[in-house]
Amino acid sequence: MAQRVTRRAFLSTSATAGAGAALGCSALGSPAAQASESLPPSPAPGRPVSIASGNGLRATARAVELLQSGEDTLDAVIAGVTIVEDDPEDMTVGYGGLPNEEGVVELDACVMHGPSCNAGAVAALQKIRNPSRVAQLVMSRTDHVLLAGEGALRFAVAHGFEPQDLLTDKARRAWLRWKETHSAADDWLSEEEARAALDARPTGTINCLAVDAKGDLSGVTTTSGLAYKIPGRVGDSPIIGAGLYVDNDVGAAGATGRGEAVIISSGSRIVCENMRRGMPPAEAVLDVLERIARQTVEPRLRDEKGRPAFDVTLYALRKDGAYASGSIWSGKSFAVHGAAGGRLEACLHLFEREA
Ligand code: ASP
Repeated sequence: MAQRVTRRAFLSTSATAGAGAALGCSALGSPAAQASESLPPSPAPGRPVSIASGNGLRATARAVELLQSGEDTLDAVIAGVTIVEDDPEDMTVGYGGLPNEEGVVELDACVMHGPSCNAGAVAALQKIRNPSRVAQLVMSRTDHVLLAGEGALRFAVAHGFEPQDLLTDKARRAWLRWKETHSAADDWLSEEEARAALDARPTGTINCLAVDAKGDLSGVTTTSGLAYKIPGRVGDSPIIGAGLYVDNDVGAAGATGRGEAVIISSGSRIVCENMRRGMPPAEAVLDVLERIARQTVEPRLRDEKGRPAFDVTLYALRKDGAYASGSIWSGKSFAVHGAAGGRLEACLHLFEREA
């Protein structure tokens, strides 16, 4: 069983919002028994507000700009992440994302619209740089929630999306380097490898959540997924309840990091349910991270102290504008944009990364 964690030793790093945090870690009792007074207060509510993964400063700024001009929350967050999907320098999302093991970029994304309680997603989508927009069309122009692979591509083309090669030269060179050196670092596990320690590989994603002045919520998660994955591998990002969940009565949540752990824990859904039951966003996020740590029992996924040998970051935005983000490991930050402007804040964490 993974080592239990404590929520003490919170260090505030954000004077403006009272958020941004580190949590010291040592062996302890159950999450339910944790003293919630030791958690940071959720940042002062204010709307509209948008939060995102650490690569989402421009996305949240755009989302809030649109919310201030009265745009729908889902259109606002999608417009925000489109900037990152289009950016070849972000090698974790959209155009320029790192490819699968065969050198082909395959994208996952989902969207969820609070007011209509509706969602859409695409998985393993090739050749279309804006999977979040295709996910929005799956939501609004089909009777389904999730389209995958070739069918998702044909659907996108039918809606006028231009197929293109998404592999930039920079991503191709990174893939080629991996290809030439990877042998023991792919996802096909021999019996021996299944027993060996996890070899971490590049990951990255953007999750962006927003609440408008009325309290309506939406969210989007979009990614090129785990670098050099087995073709057809689908992570948490297009899975409603895993990489994203929005409940217009309560709040919104999203995830980045090891998708397999987020799928197994139904991470975003549980964060929302925690908030529904009255947990503040910080506690709601840490509770799920602790569950993930406890559920990580396979030896190859644990470090020498029994802690997860991977990271997951969760984001939570409550209907009143309060928010939080937390990771299994220290060192992560997330983007926040409100009426007073944007900034990066430190994520809460379960475990201090040793230097
Ligand atoms: N969650 C993404 C996936 O597993 C990757 C990431 O966020 O780093 O596909």
